[in-house]
Amino acid sequence: MRILVTGGAGFIGSHLIDRLMAQGQEVVCLDNFYTGTKRNILKWMDNPYFELIRHDITEPIRLEVDQIYHLACPASPIHYQYNPVKTIKTNVIGTMHMLGLAKRVKARFFLASTSEVYGDPDVHPQTEEYRGSVNCIGIRSCYDEGKRVAETLSFDYHRQNGVDIRVVRIFNTYGPRMLENDGRVVSNFIVQALRNEPLTVYGDGSQTRSFCYVSDLVEGFIRLMNSDHIGPMNLGNPGEYTILELAQKIQNMINPGAEIIFKPLPEDDPKQRQPDITRAKTWLGWEPTIPLDQGLELTVKDFRDRIEGNKQ
Ligand code: NAD
Ligand code: UDP
Repeated sequence: MRILVTGGAGFIGSHLIDRLMAQGQEVVCLDNFYTGTKRNILKWMDNPYFELIRHDITEPIRLEVDQIYHLACPASPIHYQYNPVKTIKTNVIGTMHMLGLAKRVKARFFLASTSEVYGDPDVHPQTEEYRGSVNCIGIRSCYDEGKRVAETLSFDYHRQNGVDIRVVRIFNTYGPRMLENDGRVVSNFIVQALRNEPLTVYGDGSQTRSFCYVSDLVEGFIRLMNSDHIGPMNLGNPGEYTILELAQKIQNMINPGAEIIFKPLPEDDPKQRQPDITRAKTWLGWEPTIPLDQGLELTVKDFRDRIEGNKQ
């Protein structure tokens, strides 16, 4: 099978490509390298079953593929807010191009949507039926509303044109290969503790998130893609932690002497987030297997290798 992975040079995309290549699939990786890097896919460059295309999905492209995993979109608030209009274009125009491609070549289309479609939720934990509470004019809306439109487009191409879709809503995912300057909380705290800098907790740290290790997430992707269910489906680890708890955990793990400091809470920062994964359990028999402590150890090792490697 020839499989297109948009955003394949990014954090999750490159782990997905590793799994697909190990299965013996032919993989086409498409990326504009905004937040992705060639280093993430370097080991496949000389493999005849791997192809890399530098392309921006806001421009159309013609390819022949059997499946499309559509992940291209910056995921960290810092990066998606840097050029919000571009983020909307990527989510709306880019997703439309990829759905048009899927329609033309009759490929199965998988959308990497997000828990952000629930906004700052007033239902807890979040089930797929919950319709969300998103501020449509706030600083996160280029991403949240962009992904909501991407879901709408997917379901409309499905109803109107018979495109075979799969939609997942990803909850906070972490692991090796996140960028050192990614700006999301797990990588920030790990990099700060390793560099002996203060860990920056935004607000009072009482807001919660649920953190999924990347290999668990990728397993869920592949199971949904190859199932008969279209979604939407939550994928995430239901273990819920306050941000202060996470800071203390990483502090204890890396550098008990590191300071924890408090910075202003960004606008529209969701207060709590935990996936209800009943649907994934029932439909796919999927649930996460890597507890936070183990996933953090693996992630810290990767950052330590990179940061200490750079010093030499
Ligand atoms: P990432 O930033 O590491 O990866 C995104 C990739 O898309 C990068 O390689 C980037 O260069 C590429 N890209 C961005 N805009 C593009 C464009 N216009 N054209 C072509 N390529 C483009 O982020 P990630 O964490 O790997 O996230 C991957 C996907 O999963 C994203 O769609 C994101 O919204 C979704 N997601 C991630 C999380 C998470 O916790 N990591 C949570 C929810 C949803
Ligand atoms: N956060 C923090 N310190 C940081 C980075 C993030 O306290 O250095 C907080 C942020 O305000 C949010 C949570 O951690 O409440 C998760 O932030 P992230 O950007 O990782 O993801 P998202 O807000 O999109 O879930």
